[in-house]
Amino acid sequence: MSQRKVLFTLGFGFVAISILIVLFAYTAIYHLANSSMQQKKMDTVISHCAHLNAMHHSSRECSLHLQTMMVLKDPVAWQQAYQQFERNAQQFKQHHQALLATASLAEQPEVSTQSHLMQTLLATQGQAIEHLKNQQDEQAYQLLITQIMPLQTQLFEQLTEMLKTQEKQRQRLVKDSRDNYYYTIVSMIVLAVGMIILCIVIAFLVAVRIIKMTQILHQTTEKAEAANIAKSRFVATMSHELRTPLNAIIGYSEMLQEEMYDNGDEAYTTDIEKIRTSGHHLLALVNDILDISRLETNRVEINPETFDAVNLCKIVIISIKPAAEKNHNQVDLCFDNASELIYNDLLRTRQILINLLSNAAKFTHNGQITLTIKRNVACKTLQFLVQDSGIGMSREQVSNIFEPFTQVDSSTTRKYSGTGLGLAISHRLAKVLGGFIEVKTELGAGSLFTFHLPDYIAKPLKIKN
Ligand code: ADP
Repeated sequence: MSQRKVLFTLGFGFVAISILIVLFAYTAIYHLANSSMQQKKMDTVISHCAHLNAMHHSSRECSLHLQTMMVLKDPVAWQQAYQQFERNAQQFKQHHQALLATASLAEQPEVSTQSHLMQTLLATQGQAIEHLKNQQDEQAYQLLITQIMPLQTQLFEQLTEMLKTQEKQRQRLVKDSRDNYYYTIVSMIVLAVGMIILCIVIAFLVAVRIIKMTQILHQTTEKAEAANIAKSRFVATMSHELRTPLNAIIGYSEMLQEEMYDNGDEAYTTDIEKIRTSGHHLLALVNDILDISRLETNRVEINPETFDAVNLCKIVIISIKPAAEKNHNQVDLCFDNASELIYNDLLRTRQILINLLSNAAKFTHNGQITLTIKRNVACKTLQFLVQDSGIGMSREQVSNIFEPFTQVDSSTTRKYSGTGLGLAISHRLAKVLGGFIEVKTELGAGSLFTFHLPDYIAKPLKIKN
């Protein structure tokens, strides 16, 4: 449930942040496009102002040169003034053409009125110049006073008006540009702050939920551990309680066997032998369950002492021989030194070796079993190598053989007896003794179990699974 809530929060956060990022990008692009459009408009206004100013200047120059031409008597100076008039008139036309080309639809009527005015003025100025060329100074002067001057004034007024309009437009564009800049900054800040707040909120919510989940997990683990310990204690107590009647059954069946043997009464000896062996089998099983329960609740005590590992192995080989020979196996013991003294738990070491060798004897037929003792001086350990030429195991099969009640497959239960506890106990015990067990095996080619045991154990170690 909580996990679903975390996923929901993360999903919601992802969608919300994605929306904010899209908004952020859209706002940025929108304002950038706006700004670029305003810049273009501003460029047009600036160029219009430049053309209008130039037209104003050229028109005033034309008027001045015309008036100069009226008073000049020197033909050379007159010609110069005429050329300057022409040049300025030309410039006026060029700027007017440029203005006409870039004028907006709203400006078109004003510009065409101006065209009309300009053409009339230039034509009238042309007439006045013609009069001057024909020595008709009076007519030219009359034309200047009556037509040219009023037209000139009208043109100036119109140019000034247009300049004012352009100036207003420029001011409006400057204001728009400032507003655009302001809105861009504000919206960017708002979106960025929104994103940061959203990230913080989502991180907070997820953290809270994860903490809750961890707490629940912790409580569940504690409960499970407590239940496991309670179960192991119960099993240990039960096993302990079972041993007492079992020992009685075994003891009395042995006594009965002996009595019957002494009395020469052999009618029920086979049946009583069955009771005795079954009792032993059951006792071994109960002992195994007791061991695994103690190991799982860290209640295994170890009693270190100095002993000779070579002697121990000799005794182990003797006790395992009947089982090995039952399957027609050859058992050998190899060692480098006649004596290998170590300080560790003798009984637990013996238990591990018997488990490994019993398995070797059980899973090998007509083969070879070898127990080799090697000392690793660098690691300060003694290695017991239990090699067999038996059925071996595949990689998958070997992966969990150290887990309790694990057997390679169910068919094994029928073909080979066993509970699946031997290796689990040996593996945990080896750890308690400060060592470990490793296995190399191949299906159909036998197995090699190596038990590494420290040659000195300082104090009892606690098992860590
Ligand atoms: P079990 O009581 O079944 O022998 P163990 O824990 O001792 O339980 O072994 C677990 C399983 O590992 C066995 O059932 C067997 O399938 C496999 N196994 C252990 N030792 C050997 C071996 N030497 N060769 C082949 N298989 C083995």
